[in-house]
Amino acid sequence: MSKTIFVTGGAGFIGSALVRFLINETKHTVVNFDKLTYAGNLESLRSVEESERYHFVQGDICDRDTVSAVFEKYQPDFIMHLAAESHVDRSIDGPGEFIQTNIVGTYELLEAARSYYTTLVDDKKVGFRFHHISTDEVYGDLGETGLFTEETSYEPSSPYSASKAASDHLVRAWHRTYDLPVVLTNCSNNYGPYHFPEKLIPLIILNALEGKALPVYGDGKQVRDWLFVEDHARALYKVVSEGKLGDTYNIGGFNEKQNIEVVTTICNHLNDLIKDKPANLADFKELITFVTDRPGHDVRYAIDATKINKELGWHPEETFESGILKTIQWYLDNQAWCKNVQDGSYQRERLGSN
Ligand code: NAD
Repeated sequence: MSKTIFVTGGAGFIGSALVRFLINETKHTVVNFDKLTYAGNLESLRSVEESERYHFVQGDICDRDTVSAVFEKYQPDFIMHLAAESHVDRSIDGPGEFIQTNIVGTYELLEAARSYYTTLVDDKKVGFRFHHISTDEVYGDLGETGLFTEETSYEPSSPYSASKAASDHLVRAWHRTYDLPVVLTNCSNNYGPYHFPEKLIPLIILNALEGKALPVYGDGKQVRDWLFVEDHARALYKVVSEGKLGDTYNIGGFNEKQNIEVVTTICNHLNDLIKDKPANLADFKELITFVTDRPGHDVRYAIDATKINKELGWHPEETFESGILKTIQWYLDNQAWCKNVQDGSYQRERLGSN
């Protein structure tokens, strides 16, 4: 049956992949509620914005009255909460916004959802879900062996991961205390099309194309488990539709890679794809530059995604090798999107239209 899904942060990297998935692969209606911070880009939704099933509302999750009015108007069946401040380096430079959006914003959204839930008729109440989308960074540093499971205790290291950990606890408490029907997911690092250029993979691709230095933190040996963003979107839909209420599902790509491996893989592909290299380079790897490590940098994250695989039958469709090639090709084919983000025109156009 067709549902109405309220997505927060739908103009961001993962949110926009989720919205494109929901419009293109399901019959559901989507209400994208996004504040349009620097990370929100409506250009990423051009392919779905004409759909009658797609609605956009610019708003802040910290503004409970506005959120409640939108619930009232659209009567969502599912709330999928992705809105967040998400960049670790920015959280180190200025944690305040992270506390506000990720903790206070989640609290305001939970309260709006709790009061909306009480107004629902029984049928609609039974199907209602609040899905909180979070990160594996809440578990902290893994060490050289082992995997994060849903039972791993929280030990966040950065202001970003601490704020996400706090929001996860709030969501669980609203389930336990107020019986709000919730599901949670904690996911590993995503990559893919429409990723904001400050993040590692797009930064490396775009810097390489311009012949600029490719910055790698510390010795580059930090391990992350990489998941193609479209696989994450499918996983989120599985969990919101079929996940067990109150449960948490870890989502990962089964793709552990050191950062330096990721960077050299991108360079090797670009070496094959780009014949006329900038600045007379023979090999893009010549641009790799090791820079001072991020304070508190976790060495290794890796997810055990057995539960979502066994219980809900989800597994990633892309390997790192297939996903990274698709991603590089997307950046090569979508220079206009990148240029708009890099020179800030995506924000100027928005200001002009407001
Ligand atoms: P993003 O930074 O690309 O997008 C965040 C979106 O939220 C933007 O569109 C922004 O405008 C919006 N937003 C920010 N503050 C808001 C507010 N107060 N009200 C309404 N909208 C607001 O983030 P992303 O990488 O797409 O991540 C989405 C979610 O997934 C986050 O909750 C993040 O913690 C989680 N996550 C991300 C990753 C990853 O690798 N990117 C991995 C696991 C989990």
